[in-house]
Amino acid sequence: MSLVITNIGELMTQDPRAGADEGVLRDAAVVVEGERISWLGPAASAPAADLSFDAEGRALLPGWVDSHTHLIFAGDRTAEFEARMAGKSYSAGGIAVTTGATRSTPDFDLTRLAMGRVAEAVAQGTTYLETKTGYGLDVENEARSARIASTVVDEVTYLGAHLVPAGTDPDEYTGLVCGPMLDAVRPYVRWADVFCERGAFTEEQSRRVLQACRAAGLGLRVHGNQLGPGAGVRLAVEFGAASVDHVNYLDDDDVAALAGSWSDWDGQGGQGRRGTVATALPACDLSTRQPLAPARLLLDAGVQLALASNCNPGTSYTSSMAFCVTTAVLQMGLSVHEAVRAATYGGALALGRESGSDTDGSRAVGSIAVGHRADLHLLNAPSATHLAYRPGIPLTAALWRAGVRQA
Ligand SMILES: [Zn+2]
Repeated sequence: MSLVITNIGELMTQDPRAGADEGVLRDAAVVVEGERISWLGPAASAPAADLSFDAEGRALLPGWVDSHTHLIFAGDRTAEFEARMAGKSYSAGGIAVTTGATRSTPDFDLTRLAMGRVAEAVAQGTTYLETKTGYGLDVENEARSARIASTVVDEVTYLGAHLVPAGTDPDEYTGLVCGPMLDAVRPYVRWADVFCERGAFTEEQSRRVLQACRAAGLGLRVHGNQLGPGAGVRLAVEFGAASVDHVNYLDDDDVAALAGSWSDWDGQGGQGRRGTVATALPACDLSTRQPLAPARLLLDAGVQLALASNCNPGTSYTSSMAFCVTTAVLQMGLSVHEAVRAATYGGALALGRESGSDTDGSRAVGSIAVGHRADLHLLNAPSATHLAYRPGIPLTAALWRAGVRQA
């Protein structure tokens, strides 16, 4: 079955190979065949298809790619949030509350909760999702979280190194993360992550985790530089991690290392050495009252940027990528095009799913190009500018995920 979406007022492709006008087309059409995009161009020359959808002059973007979430959890941390809003500062320890609730929740309920969160994200325009383990923190519960995650999202990350459980020796626990726990989650995950932060894992412990997970064939990511300066960014670049996330407290060397990691990359077909994406998590920054990550400075330095929701019960209980884009424009100094790019193509880069990341492009998401997965987001607005111009207004008018209409 084929579908032509026609009369698109603004088609923001976010395809880095589309040269002119930053890949934005006016009066455009897109044709979808099955799961893939098969054609795009001027509406006047669109080929016929089995079905037709009139976009009525509205804007079409790639679906959001949310490259950083923590959706496998049970329980609630409203009280912690209230305390924080009353002036108490955030520390990494709140994770333990969620771990207790998650461990005591049966598979069926944990799956149902995660599916509900995915549905909430999709209803707001997200079409490709990563999520992490990290609220199990023992072999059985990390493996269970990974297995459940693999049934509800597109990409799964092992985050056994989220927090050292209370009453456990940190080095002993790190050994568990690098050994039996890693073996148990391995069938379900493509990525590994470590929370390299004061109160979580030290540089040395983080290094052990990254070494073991790399040796197991996993792609790497790092939670780093969230609550203060630290080794996270440096480690991520040294290990060739796909992304380092949070990046609130950066010194000049951190920024130079991130920029340097992209120096051999052509920025188009994925040729040359890929670097480490810096993932900003503005909803988390606001919810923890931390300074927003210096996204403008990173872009100006030549760093590839992603925006993600970091949806989790402690520090960012939202999956709204539109909110992240709005914040990036209004408060972080990004243009609308840059913010949308970071929330689509940037997320795909952070997950190794950008254009050119495989031989036929069939796994590519986050940009609108022939052969890519048909993840398409129609806004109830004539241009993407309305995401920032009309903050807080739900603008998702229609959504296709792998060619299937969702909303
Ligand atoms: Zn996180």
